[in-house]
Amino acid sequence: MHHPKHIAIIGAGVAGLAFALLASRQGHNVQLFEHKPLGKQMGAGVTLWPNATFVLAKMGLLAAVRARSGEPEWMRRLSPDNSEMTALPIAQLDELSGYPSLTILRKDLMTVLIDACKNTDILFHDNYHIDEHKLADLRQNNDLVIGADGRMQSVARHYVAPDAKPVYQGFVNIIGISHYPKGTLCPTAILDFCGNGQRFGIVPVSDTMAYWAAAWQTPNGSSDDPAYQLPQLKTRFATWPIPVQQMLNFVTPSSMRPIFVHDLDPLSCWHRDNVLLIGDAAHASLPTSGQGACQALEDAWLLAKHLSETQDTQNLLPQFQLARQSKTGQIQQSGRVLASTIFSPASANTQAGVVKQSLQDIVNVWMSGLPIN
Ligand SMILES: Cc1cc2nc3c(=O)[nH]c(=O)nc-3n(C[C@H](O)[C@H](O)[C@H](O)COP(=O)(O)OP(=O)(O)OC[C@H]3O[C@@H](n4cnc5c(N)ncnc54)[C@H](O)[C@@H]3O)c2cc1C
Repeated sequence: MHHPKHIAIIGAGVAGLAFALLASRQGHNVQLFEHKPLGKQMGAGVTLWPNATFVLAKMGLLAAVRARSGEPEWMRRLSPDNSEMTALPIAQLDELSGYPSLTILRKDLMTVLIDACKNTDILFHDNYHIDEHKLADLRQNNDLVIGADGRMQSVARHYVAPDAKPVYQGFVNIIGISHYPKGTLCPTAILDFCGNGQRFGIVPVSDTMAYWAAAWQTPNGSSDDPAYQLPQLKTRFATWPIPVQQMLNFVTPSSMRPIFVHDLDPLSCWHRDNVLLIGDAAHASLPTSGQGACQALEDAWLLAKHLSETQDTQNLLPQFQLARQSKTGQIQQSGRVLASTIFSPASANTQAGVVKQSLQDIVNVWMSGLPIN
């Protein structure tokens, strides 16, 4: 092992926790700063595609994540009148890539990462907000400062790229979790209803639970606005197919939350001095990319790999950016393209959200940059 480094990580989300774990296992002195209570970050669920489960396997966490996950076999894209537009055979995609796709509640993913971190020497500081003055101290006292502090108000990004601001993409996502009797939904099919500029995606995690997201175009607003509450949601989607009604009828109201969805324009530089951005702080993409958490895991694993191969932090930061920038830029772009087909005023057509890509093309993009053998 090289000389151990002092590493401060800002943000205990997917990227921060995963990198903390890997760097600590390499023997580095890692401190992790999180401004919320640990594991209390908001969110419903995520789909971990094969590139993410490749990383989890390398981290030794795949079995623990899989034990808490659903294993989808299909993603069906349907119109609001329930006719199927496309069907993605996820089981085949998994076979082609060699790793499973998994659906998991965000709190369960966080629990697996946090539990793994507890078996290391990472020094946790939760309820601890890093502002620009504390960032200056961290820069002074550490070899490396990792900005894993997310898409909206990253203090690390403000230091690295002060002009970069999250861009509102003109649509809201209302997320929620529903528990229902067995037999209500097929547990192995993700259902993605799209049309008339609106979307309702349903992701089963078990045979009695799913997380979901409803979305439509709207100006950036306030989460307290009644337009984003359950009765209004039921009215908005009243004529949509039965699974949508079931999700709204069985929802746990406290799990619901509106998110006014922002992403980032690709940044030209992800580092300054000894500060490096990873995850959403560096390359937030829209939920329509389906890849934000997957890319956060890839960042963590590839950064740890580069760290194990070099002593020189000066080279490490540009090397890491070079390795990751093209793929994450492509994913940011794909999220925008899909969002524009779903939410643009012209999207009343029945092909909303249909992207024509072969399975092999999808696998090639998602698994690129990952040394499979
Ligand atoms: C509705 C929705 C659905 C999604 N679905 C998927 C999906 O199916 N698959 C997928 O791969 N991705 C999905 N994503 C994207 C994914 O959630 C994010 O890309 C991922 O969580 C990014 O991880 P991160 O660690 O970079 O950032 P975050 O998870 O945002 O973590 C950042 C952390 O930094 C902390 N922090 C921020 N500022 C400070 C500070 N100053 N001091 C201390 N701590 C700070 C925050 O509290 C937070 O804990 C979805 C996103 C949304 C909005």
